[in-house]
Amino acid sequence: MHTYDTLIVGAGFSGIGTAIKLTEAGVDDVVIVERDQRVGGTWRDNTYPGAACDIPSLLYSFSFVANPTWSRAYSPADEIRQHIEDMVDRFDLRRRIDFGVEVNGLAFDETDGVWDVSTTGRRSYRARTVVLASGPLTDHAWPDIRGIDTYEGHKIHSADWDHDYDFTGKRVAVIGTGASAVQIVPELVKQAAFVKVFQRTPGWVIPRLDVATPARAQELFAKVPAVQRLARQALFWGHEASATALVWKSPLSSVVARLGKAHLKRQVKDPWLRRQLTPDFTPGCKRMLVSSDYYPALQRDNCKLIDWPIAAMSPVGIRTCDGVEHHLDAVVFATGYDVHLTGPPYPVTGLGGRSLAAEWTRGAQAYKSINASGYPNLFFMTGPNSGPGHNSLLVFVEGQIDYAVAGITTILRNDLRYLDVRDDVQRRHNEQLQKRLTKTTWMSGCNSWYLTADGFNASMYPGFATQYLRQMRDFQLGDYVAQARHAAAAVGSRSSA
Ligand code: NAP
Repeated sequence: MHTYDTLIVGAGFSGIGTAIKLTEAGVDDVVIVERDQRVGGTWRDNTYPGAACDIPSLLYSFSFVANPTWSRAYSPADEIRQHIEDMVDRFDLRRRIDFGVEVNGLAFDETDGVWDVSTTGRRSYRARTVVLASGPLTDHAWPDIRGIDTYEGHKIHSADWDHDYDFTGKRVAVIGTGASAVQIVPELVKQAAFVKVFQRTPGWVIPRLDVATPARAQELFAKVPAVQRLARQALFWGHEASATALVWKSPLSSVVARLGKAHLKRQVKDPWLRRQLTPDFTPGCKRMLVSSDYYPALQRDNCKLIDWPIAAMSPVGIRTCDGVEHHLDAVVFATGYDVHLTGPPYPVTGLGGRSLAAEWTRGAQAYKSINASGYPNLFFMTGPNSGPGHNSLLVFVEGQIDYAVAGITTILRNDLRYLDVRDDVQRRHNEQLQKRLTKTTWMSGCNSWYLTADGFNASMYPGFATQYLRQMRDFQLGDYVAQARHAAAAVGSRSSA
């Protein structure tokens, strides 16, 4: 069986970006395995009405793949998915992608220094290095609501939209008021007879200043790419500054709270509804919601906010704790994902037969979010503690790609059997990280998908994007145990690669 230099799991933004940078670095023997039949990851899967990115497109894209034609400040999901398709064609990556292949296990062969990759189908792979780029928000979850299976109406999850269902004239519920729901509700109210929005926790909503990109700006970006880079930089630093309010609780957090309350006051005149929609947690603790049409949608004649807790679902709809039975034709679950805070949803077996799932039961831990000790030659994209609370995820992913390329080229050029991050280095890194996390808004007392059930933060990076990028630019061979392929002795080095 052929042994690839690199196998990438997932053909979303991070998998495709890694393949681009690896081939630029001269690593040509790359295969990407993708469980779906199309590229795009979360932007392929999330096709609900109103789906768009709440980070401006100029920043929610790779700096090394300029796109002067974004249609709007916040481009819709389908345009983002098409942009990923275009990247694949522009960099001639389609021939490297095996579609319809779902990985279900990884095991490291220490003798050969190769990962054995098994799949749910008949195919299996061998690769010297593996990049896990399947993303944290890939598998959606049905919430744990009593009686959910007894409901006889139509059930739709935001991450798996049913485009055949016609909402016209229907009585619809939306459960959840997170980032997906605030995009769905304004669209649903245009079509359904009635929409009831079931809210458990009101979130902080700030205005979305969305505009169509003027044709002249698109022309200028195409002719003078430096102008687009400058605009991206301006957005980057604007978002970077917001960390001082959103990542750490500071006097600036109350400025954001005032902005959110002013937005609420301006858009919602009814004091009781305003009270129902007022959050009671520090801004940033949960993801900020960016919308200018969510509050107006809630106040349409055919929409109602329900903030009584859900007691159960019944064959006809939803029963709330006040005893009301809400009769519904369809229920939309905008209730989030089964986030993999404890590792990939399949076994990963490292050195000496160790199991990643067993080691990460209480929450994932890695070095610089990308390598885990005992699992050599394996690189995690959007890995443990790599999430930004204030800036574009893709800025962070670019840092991860550069680091993975440095690691992979080190392995291949030095013909290493393995490159394994030192356990003491990883432990020290995580001790500092967890200490820094205690001072962040995410640990200030709200419930969010950022935390495991027992409150461990395995998802967010407690700092500025600039700090994260600095650490990702600094690949130190001395942080690793490096073992040559054809020598018995370890060749651990402390020099910088
Ligand atoms: P989410 O942020 O996890 O929100 C889920 C919502 O469902 C919350 O309001 C939650 O209430 C509610 N919920 C969950 N279980 C429930 C239950 N059993 N009963 C009642 N309510 C329940 O999920 P999401 O909106 O799909 O967003 C997930 C992530 O996807 C975001 O944080 C973001 O990273 C990403 N996203 C990004 C964009 C973008 O534009 N870039 C858009 C959409 C999503 P509680 O708050 O009380 O838990």
